[in-house]
Amino acid sequence: MRKALVIGNWKMNGLQARNAELVAAVASGVADETFARVDVGVCPPFIYLQAVAQQLDDTAIAVGAQNMSQHASGAYTGEVSAEMLVDAGCRLVILGHSERRSLFAETDADVAGKVNAALAAQLTPVVCVGETLQQREAGDAESVVSEQLLQALAGLGAEALEQVVVAYEPVWAIGTGLTASPEQAQEIHRALRKVLNGLSAEAADKMRILYGGSVNAANADALFAQPDIDGGLIGGASLKAEDFIAICRAA
Ligand code: PGA
Repeated sequence: MRKALVIGNWKMNGLQARNAELVAAVASGVADETFARVDVGVCPPFIYLQAVAQQLDDTAIAVGAQNMSQHASGAYTGEVSAEMLVDAGCRLVILGHSERRSLFAETDADVAGKVNAALAAQLTPVVCVGETLQQREAGDAESVVSEQLLQALAGLGAEALEQVVVAYEPVWAIGTGLTASPEQAQEIHRALRKVLNGLSAEAADKMRILYGGSVNAANADALFAQPDIDGGLIGGASLKAEDFIAICRAA
């Protein structure tokens, strides 16, 4: 009932020539029958968004940013607004990634502000939540991610919620090669769905919750087979066309 979604988060990787090669390989490798089942997106660094969007213009692959400002315009040196992203050809934006939270001190309130700004510009926010290893070991994984989600989506009505994509990315699984087991991931996804259900039962049913954290071509099948896992947010494996295509096909 929910269409699967697979998004590549390139992080701070790639230069023009390499991006063009990667995008061409992904575009030709993801067949039409995959697009019937799966929405696909790629998120390059800001400076390459427009070039990648132009290259993908006649394909079904969406382009997204990895971050944005919560402000609309003005004296915010170094920042990029939601409207600018749309103008550059973006349809998605990753918000609240754990690297933004831990390395750039982004707070839940910042994430909420960005979610609102993205929705106002008709960009699809991909809201990331995830617990650290310490929080998991203390038994707090579910409460931590539930609270992050509630804060990020505070004040949104059903209609707005339906535009939002959620990504569960356990911090201990990102870039480490340690993946949450399908059962561990499903347990958290079920809890997140319950939180969404409390906000709007109708929206919760339609909203996609992606799993992210060391997803690869070998483990994607089992993760995506879980009832509340609606696709993936893929870091390292999205930089290799062959792996990313295999993951898209698995969704
Ligand atoms: P990874 O990254 O797939 O390299 O673990 C996922 C992410 O950070 O979005």
